[in-house]
Amino acid sequence: LFCWTIQSFLHSAEKKPPLLPRLFSHARGMRKKLIAGNWKMFKKIGEAQSLIKEIAQGAGDLGGVELLVCPPYTALNAASEARKGTQIKVGAQDLHWEEQGAFTGKISWDMIRDTGAEYVIIGHSEQRSYFHETDDTVNKKTKTALKGGLVPVICVGETLAERDGNRTMDVVSTQTKKAFEGITKEDATKCVIAYEPVWAIGTGRNATPEQAQEVHAGIRALIQSLYDASVAEGMRILYGGSMKPDNAKSLLTQKDIDGGLIGGASLKADSFLAIARAGL
Ligand code: PEP
Repeated sequence: LFCWTIQSFLHSAEKKPPLLPRLFSHARGMRKKLIAGNWKMFKKIGEAQSLIKEIAQGAGDLGGVELLVCPPYTALNAASEARKGTQIKVGAQDLHWEEQGAFTGKISWDMIRDTGAEYVIIGHSEQRSYFHETDDTVNKKTKTALKGGLVPVICVGETLAERDGNRTMDVVSTQTKKAFEGITKEDATKCVIAYEPVWAIGTGRNATPEQAQEVHAGIRALIQSLYDASVAEGMRILYGGSMKPDNAKSLLTQKDIDGGLIGGASLKADSFLAIARAGL
């Protein structure tokens, strides 16, 4: 991976302006950390409202990070109302790629926007493994989200067998490349990527900061090769997979980790806020 990263860096450096100014424009401050809660199939309307209130009450010192919560569809509108006047943003956990039609059980970008939500998670590993999400549907959904003015949070990540088979970067690169197929540079700058090793989601077993950093750097190098250095430098790449208050700081201080996508620990205000504070 190291060689691959360096190679692609050198390759792209040939076509890019001199190194020094580019390194200066790498300033990490450019990327505000995004701390996102994926509430999965938890929280009814009243619970969502209470949790948002509690997060907002404890977030007074968190102006330096962006906070996002992604409740189930049924609570999206109530969450969007409850967040008004706070710094918290709201996102959905999935969308369909069509605007409307005979798609029982599905929800469109337009309906999500109508609730007041601004973000959408796409390609979560639970969607990929339980609900037939493919790289192709991730790409279609990403295009639709962008067209509809939603910020896509595109999830990529390898399974344990893929990591053990030394295929992590191959898998993550393929997922990322496919997700961005046909997406313009301008639209790419609006996207967020979440690297979530499947073996770390909901298992209590997180990637080490070094393992995560290595993949994040690889994804950023890939984005640079697909677009250019400025898109790569601006792209927020979140880590997800058993992020908790006690491991958040070591992950969030890695050079290429720009926030977290948090499942279990986002369901309580104190743990979500503690993770967010680690991102300051
Ligand atoms: C997730 O579902 O995106 C996730 C990272 O879950 P957890 O934090 O519970 O591992």
